[in-house]
Amino acid sequence: MLNILDLEQLSPELKSIAQKVKQGERISSADCLVLFEQAELGYLGALANHIRNKRHGNKTYFNRNFHLEPTNVCLYTCTFCSYSRLIKKREEGWEYSHDEMMDMIKAYDDKPVTEVHIVGGVLPQYDLEFYANLFKAIKAHRPDLHVKALTPVEYHYIFKKSHTKCLNFIIGKSPF
Ligand code: SF4
Repeated sequence: MLNILDLEQLSPELKSIAQKVKQGERISSADCLVLFEQAELGYLGALANHIRNKRHGNKTYFNRNFHLEPTNVCLYTCTFCSYSRLIKKREEGWEYSHDEMMDMIKAYDDKPVTEVHIVGGVLPQYDLEFYANLFKAIKAHRPDLHVKALTPVEYHYIFKKSHTKCLNFIIGKSPF
């Protein structure tokens, strides 16, 4: 196994982080920033693999999940995206309702899945209220199902659109 402390070219900050990882200590937010600014992807992989190896040896675990894509219509036009349909051509895509999505969740009731991964395009009707209600309904229906949902661009749009609601939510006034 690669000894991540033996890499001579590491900066003192990266060496200090490697020491923490070797000793099983949690790294701090400031350490994360150092990793973001200084670390090569391969180095991050070596640190992660060190922890994985220490905990699980040669065993590998898989998450059994299924995907749920609320819509493939999107306000944005990311150049790398081969998935979305332009909003001008929204008739080519799909836009599932809350109930349709719950039916899709329920279709997995007898399956040994552990997670639902929800990700899709960005549209106004998929707002904070829509997703909060959806996530609550999923957890009420199947509490053991882990909900992994939304990309940063979806969160950014939802929070930007719901700014007041989010502030109310943060200070303890439910927006719903
Ligand atoms: S926000 Fe997501 S779905 Fe929309 S165009 Fe970009 S990558 Fe595609």
